[in-house]
Amino acid sequence: MTTKATQSNEPVGRFLGWLGRRNSRGASPEGGDAPPDVGGARSFARQVRYELAASITSFLVDNDLDVSPANLLLAHSAFSGRNPRLAGQIAAQAQSADGINQKWLNELGEEDRGLPDRVELDRLMARLETNIEAFQANTKEARTVTSDYGSELEQHVVDLEQLQKTGRIVSSLADLAKVMLDRTRKAEDDMRKSEDEAKALRRSLDRAKRDAELDYLTGLPNRRAFEILLERHYKEARAAVEPLSIAFCDIDEFKKVNDLHGHEAGDRVIKAIADTLARISNDHCHVARHGGEEFVMLFRGLTPTQAAEKLDDAREALADRRLINRKTDEPFGQITFSGGVADVFGYGDTRAALKAADAALYKAKAGGRNRIEIADPA
Ligand code: GH3
Ligand code: MG
Ligand code: MG
Repeated sequence: MTTKATQSNEPVGRFLGWLGRRNSRGASPEGGDAPPDVGGARSFARQVRYELAASITSFLVDNDLDVSPANLLLAHSAFSGRNPRLAGQIAAQAQSADGINQKWLNELGEEDRGLPDRVELDRLMARLETNIEAFQANTKEARTVTSDYGSELEQHVVDLEQLQKTGRIVSSLADLAKVMLDRTRKAEDDMRKSEDEAKALRRSLDRAKRDAELDYLTGLPNRRAFEILLERHYKEARAAVEPLSIAFCDIDEFKKVNDLHGHEAGDRVIKAIADTLARISNDHCHVARHGGEEFVMLFRGLTPTQAAEKLDDAREALADRRLINRKTDEPFGQITFSGGVADVFGYGDTRAALKAADAALYKAKAGGRNRIEIADPA
């Protein structure tokens, strides 16, 4: 009588061993049909029992028969030697053209069915059930716990473990495969960590790059970013023969704002004007903070006159507003800006065009402020 512990472990190995045997049938050095060597410590009677269970299982599985009590009874009668006539019938049918199938089995007369020991049948069924459950549990674990590659490797390890009883070489191969599996998992883990680190670094880098090109106060692109933008649009617009205009805007008498309301309030005014200018920006109109209370703009596809019109709308909108210092509730009074527009292609290069726009801005200031002037390339 086996203990409960051995009953729950051994059938797993046997069932898997049988599977391995089936899969390697013909290629196995054991000739495919012999049960695996269950070890010297195991009794001969156990091997016989194993062989009986394996034969019954093969019979049912190979012939696509249900694992039903009736089939198990019949197979047991035939393979245990209790019913030699039935065994002969099965052997003959297996050789025939029709082969063995459920229909043929059902048609076998009641007299051909032996009456095996009920207790033995119960044991056989319980063992099969345990085997299937264990096998299912193993498969599920392999499927869920490991990655595709890991699972595949693990299957090899399981197979090799089943075969390791055949020799030391196979056993050491199983150990080697196990080590490889562990390393694969570790490598996978390390790779995932490295991937995460690389992603974090990528994010930091992107953030740093963005920060380097953004003005912290207004959130607008800074002068550096604008220069890159200008060079790109200059090349593109020239190739596409599209107009390209540039403008400088400067807050009028901003020093007074600072003097009257303080630097912090001045910052909020700069921010408000940045927002006003940002409202007219889009894919073809770019606004940047050039520095201090000065902004620079690029109008792609617009002539200086069209650009000046657009800018003048923004100027008017701002001039109509009455900003209030929300810290003190004091009015800032009318806040305006002046602008100078230039045709980028009207000068030798972008630098010269920027200079011309600046000169036009100076002209607007000199002309009384709160206005837009267009530079004349002539
Ligand atoms: P104009 O109409 O001729 O442009 O007069 P203005 O007073 O605006 O010109 P000016 O160049 O004399 O003064 C600009 C002032 O803007 C001086 C400086 O303190 C202030 N300023 C520059 N950058 C900032 C800033 O980031 N925040 C604040 N609050 N003030 C700034
Ligand atoms: Mg200025
Ligand atoms: Mg100013």
